[in-house]
Amino acid sequence: MLLIDCPYCGPRNENEFTYGGQAHVPYPEDPYDLTDEAWGQYLFYRDNQQGEYAERWAHAAGCRRWFNAIRDTRTYKFLAVYPMGAGRPELAGGTR
Ligand SMILES: [Zn+2]
Repeated sequence: MLLIDCPYCGPRNENEFTYGGQAHVPYPEDPYDLTDEAWGQYLFYRDNQQGEYAERWAHAAGCRRWFNAIRDTRTYKFLAVYPMGAGRPELAGGTR
């Protein structure tokens, strides 16, 4: 069982969490100005990279709060967790 370190509750089992997709995807400043293609890009297209990946998670069966995490997609290891609204932390020796 994978443990995820909720920044508010501490380590909990992964089955208490809900994945929320890629973190730090900015909402368009004026979505009405977007073409259908650009709106589709915003809604459906995300990075799909190996290695460190910033994600949104919710502790759905716990405190019900959202937070961001950096996870290595090759190993599933969580490298950092941080509150929503905080900037992505720099990891020592990390690659993006
Ligand atoms: Zn929590």
